[in-house]
Amino acid sequence: MTKRVAIVGGGAAGLMAAYSAAVHGAKVTLFERNNILGVKVMISGKGRCNLTNIKELHEFIQNIPGNGRFLYGALSRFSNRDLIEFFNRLGVETKVERGGRVFPKSDRAKDVVKALERALMEAGVEVRYKSRVREIVVEDKTVKGLVFYDQGEFFPCEKAVVATGGMSYPSTGSTGDGYDMARKLGHTVIEPRPSLVPLITKEEWVEDLQGLTLKNVEVTAYSKGKKLGSQFGEMLFTHYGVSGPIILTISRSVVRHLDEGVTLSLNLKPALNDEMLERRLQRDFEKYSRKQLKNGLVDFLPKRLIPIFLDICGIDPEKTVNQLTREERHKIIENLTGLKLTVVGCMEEEAIVTSGGVSVKEIDSRTMESKLISGLYFAGEVIDVDGYTGGYNLQAAFSTGYLAGKSAALS
Ligand SMILES: Cc1cc2nc3c(=O)[nH]c(=O)nc-3n(C[C@H](O)[C@H](O)[C@H](O)COP(=O)(O)OP(=O)(O)OC[C@H]3O[C@@H](n4cnc5c(N)ncnc54)[C@H](O)[C@@H]3O)c2cc1C
Repeated sequence: MTKRVAIVGGGAAGLMAAYSAAVHGAKVTLFERNNILGVKVMISGKGRCNLTNIKELHEFIQNIPGNGRFLYGALSRFSNRDLIEFFNRLGVETKVERGGRVFPKSDRAKDVVKALERALMEAGVEVRYKSRVREIVVEDKTVKGLVFYDQGEFFPCEKAVVATGGMSYPSTGSTGDGYDMARKLGHTVIEPRPSLVPLITKEEWVEDLQGLTLKNVEVTAYSKGKKLGSQFGEMLFTHYGVSGPIILTISRSVVRHLDEGVTLSLNLKPALNDEMLERRLQRDFEKYSRKQLKNGLVDFLPKRLIPIFLDICGIDPEKTVNQLTREERHKIIENLTGLKLTVVGCMEEEAIVTSGGVSVKEIDSRTMESKLISGLYFAGEVIDVDGYTGGYNLQAAFSTGYLAGKSAALS
């Protein structure tokens, strides 16, 4: 008998789940609260959609700090290679960029969504827009159907895949509905928190540096004197604090300690140890000995940063280099290797991903089926799985979606 499968949510995971269930023989209806599909995919990768990463499975999983190992099942059944092949077959050619990141050759996220829409149509999936699911109806621990927020209708089905996403960028439709649905059915929801998120700092001087990118720097986060982690690479100052790749990565652990207070320490010259730094500084100061200090650090720091940096050091920028005292030299070295920023919050709604969600302990990783309710499946960001930037989150959504859809159709 043909199974009736309902997919809740038309993002990356839901679209793939719908396709997968349909090609495996189910009668599929996808419910999306927006009037278009894949809104978040469209804005992903700054509109270019970093759809996956070519790293081998083991390394791939290391880039998913939030329960990456839970994904072994889904990633080995529908891998990054399978995804690339899938899109190539649909006419979306791909290219590989820095760090193994995979993008559509056209650089258009829209092409990814359009291809999925075509695939759904060809597979015979029915899509119902402006349909916000309120609850999964269950009897005797078995799925019976769905009910909606603003329609009295009851939709009967034997299987339901919850693919409602996380809570970031709520304007895209992902407002955490799936967490409520899961809780009502007895599932544990691990506290959802923003991850890969820009940080707000107390120091007002960051605003003057808005738009300035620092490359090859190291950021270390501390809370109550304990080191939370360290990242090397590129960061960016914003009008409220800091962002950029290394900040987004470290934000995962920072957010967990915000209540206790977090300090960031920026090493602006991580390639040099104290001795080397001292020598380099000495050399530059000899070279620029008669210049004002604000012009004496030009080989060391970006021009925009110099006056602010000297202000933090408490040194008059008009002073000539040869007037510097020993203490002042030490102060410069201290701040070059450990410029302090106090984190007071994060830009919650701008998080790339939500960490937390439906507990992986209650989901069978071989099928994505709930261990508590027969016929209930989860896919994508609604699950307590989160990765770093680089294509890991979309692949996680596509792989879990594929597996959930297939399992729902065949079980
Ligand atoms: C700005 C930004 C850029 C990103 N860039 C990348 C990137 O380049 N690469 C990468 O790997 N990851 C990226 N991510 C993360 C990635 O986009 C997400 O992890 C992924 O889209 C999650 O897919 P999902 O299908 O689980 O959830 P979503 O894409 O959030 O989709 C959930 C869908 O469910 C619908 N929905 C919610 N509740 C209901 C309901 N009650 N009834 C019906 N429908 C409902 C929503 O409207 C939405 O369409 C980015 C995220 C953001 C915010």
